[in-house]
Amino acid sequence: MENTAKKPIQPNPILLQSKELYEYILETTVYPREPEPLKELRAASASHPTAFFGTAPDAGQLMAILLKLVNAKRTIEVGVFTGYSLLLTALTIPDDGKIIAMDINRKSYEIGLPIIQKAGVEHKIDFIESQALPALDKLLENQENEGSFDFAFVDADKGNYLNYHERLMKLVKVGGIIVYDNTLWGGTVAWPEESVPVAKRNIRQSSIEFNKSLVADPRIESSLAPLGDGLTICRRIY
Ligand code: SAM
Ligand code: CA
Repeated sequence: MENTAKKPIQPNPILLQSKELYEYILETTVYPREPEPLKELRAASASHPTAFFGTAPDAGQLMAILLKLVNAKRTIEVGVFTGYSLLLTALTIPDDGKIIAMDINRKSYEIGLPIIQKAGVEHKIDFIESQALPALDKLLENQENEGSFDFAFVDADKGNYLNYHERLMKLVKVGGIIVYDNTLWGGTVAWPEESVPVAKRNIRQSSIEFNKSLVADPRIESSLAPLGDGLTICRRIY
């Protein structure tokens, strides 16, 4: 069990110069401080056919710091899978904090749920089994939700990131943070289109457009950090 948890579960989204360098970061900086329930959740997800969906632990470590920096209490999670980033958030926010988590598939969430329960943080989670767009629109039907969230993490349905961004800009408060995962799409955003596998081209194109439009968005300041598969951190400034 210990060994499985220590292995990086996603060898593909490595943007660093070598696997050894990524291993170095994980072994020396990330795993020694990774909370036990997160190690357990990684191990429980390791045999899943899409185990690589799980948020990269190094990106998770940065997210925990961001959550603390903004004293996040109310957060949104788009794309739960087995719950690595969800559990990380639940372990980080205060006991009376709340995470509205959405995913079209509850089955994968149920793999992580016993570990979330054992960690004593299930009460902070509202899991909504739904497509994220209508779920976000539903949140917006209640005016009280506008500008009421401190933090959002988006890690699903990459072709819709611009649509999520428009909704999240209303839900997250000024000064709040929105983090988007996989914004470098395996590095393909910088490749000539013809060298990108056909199956990856659509998302590559939407990622390029999304990255461009964030830079042109005066409502935020942002940073595209080459962690995991590319982690874009946005701060709403108005
Ligand atoms: N953040 C998760 C973690 O740390 O394990 C990984 C999320 S995984 C990359 C993407 C998830 O998004 C999958 O569980 C999938 O079921 C879900 N998903 C895909 N399309 C969706 C949509 N339109 N709305 C909501 N969830 C969606
Ligand atoms: Ca991801």
